[in-house]
Amino acid sequence: MEFKKKITKLYSNGEITVVWQPHLCIHSAACAVGLPKVFDPGRRPWVDPHAAPTIEIRNQVIMCPSGALTLDPPPKLEVLKPKD
Ligand code: SF4
Repeated sequence: MEFKKKITKLYSNGEITVVWQPHLCIHSAACAVGLPKVFDPGRRPWVDPHAAPTIEIRNQVIMCPSGALTLDPPPKLEVLKPKD
């Protein structure tokens, strides 16, 4: 039986922190394909939160299908106001 060790790693650029929980990753590669300058599995550390603007990192992290990548603080939901 294989046990995946539950660890959490944090990568901060001072504005936002990428939270990485490898035991949740399903290896879709969405992060590495979508924003390779930040998410590079061949590099250590593999997440460089200084390699792109915060908004680009945020937009990529929320696309992670497994929840292995999340944000701290969590992204705010935008409230759309009806037009007059
Ligand atoms: S997008 Fe999420 S599930 Fe896919 S490889 Fe990256 S961390 Fe893993």
